[in-house]
Amino acid sequence: MAIAPYRIGVDLGGTKVEAIALAADGTITTRRRVASPRGDYAATVRTIAGLVDAIDGELGGRGSVGVGIPGTISPATGLVKNANSVHLIDHRLDSDLEAALGRAVRLANDADCFALSEASDGAGKGARSVFGVILGTGVGGGLVWEGALIAGPNAIAGEWGHNPLPWPRDDERPGPTCYCGRAGCIEQFVSGPGFARDHAEVTGQVLDAAAIAAAAAAGDRTARASLDRYVERLARALATVMNIFDPEAIVLGGGMSNVAALYHEVPLRWQGWVFTDHVATRLLPPAHGDSSGVRGAAWLWPAGAEISNAARAAPRAAPASP
Ligand SMILES: [Zn+2]
Repeated sequence: MAIAPYRIGVDLGGTKVEAIALAADGTITTRRRVASPRGDYAATVRTIAGLVDAIDGELGGRGSVGVGIPGTISPATGLVKNANSVHLIDHRLDSDLEAALGRAVRLANDADCFALSEASDGAGKGARSVFGVILGTGVGGGLVWEGALIAGPNAIAGEWGHNPLPWPRDDERPGPTCYCGRAGCIEQFVSGPGFARDHAEVTGQVLDAAAIAAAAAAGDRTARASLDRYVERLARALATVMNIFDPEAIVLGGGMSNVAALYHEVPLRWQGWVFTDHVATRLLPPAHGDSSGVRGAAWLWPAGAEISNAARAAPRAAPASP
């Protein structure tokens, strides 16, 4: 065993794979990006291993390795589940990476990595409890308690996007059909595409989420009304998490986190839904922006973790199709 001189974080995205090395003080000492191999599992493993090798070669050491993935390792089967990059599903990505790299590798959902990054040295630094929320193409979340991710037996802690929109009005029921097979999921209302769909349904205008938010900020009345509906729905959706987890800080990430009005307006609305007389929870923009995923992956290991010098092995064969 040797002490890792730095922490490597890898963010496996749909279009790019990014890797950084994080020094003990949280400084990024090197950063590399390559295009994601499309639909090719073996190439994905090779790409991640290649980025780690390149960083080790550049820095002359062996770092700890954490990887953020668009999905989760199922505790029941050890296989990737809930991934929108479907070529990852039903593979043992963690053990295949460990074999390819000759050291232990920690994997986590990308929303969990975001939450861990922002809780560790980002917007939620110093807060005992943090709910990190991704409001992007999809909606995800992660819960951090005293600096550590909450990891339950199903590996779904904080995954609130497929809960139903709470306190629905009549015109919100049953709500849009979701790819998860249900209708009226929170994700269908507070994701970027969900915001755009609602605006199109009410106004007939097809605009993306950023354009609607910009029009609202510029004083456009119909866009402003769409943003009001969004704010109200997000306040209700967050209130249910607050009633259970009572976080000190909620940090927003993903494309919708760029809408500055949310940080002032959502707390005005959630007051009416959270079961308390005064809400002390802070709603915060991310400190590390798009880098939170890759930083959080690095944070999956503590500084100075012991790294094995195990020999590398060939990745195992893909599972047979059922
Ligand atoms: Zn759903």
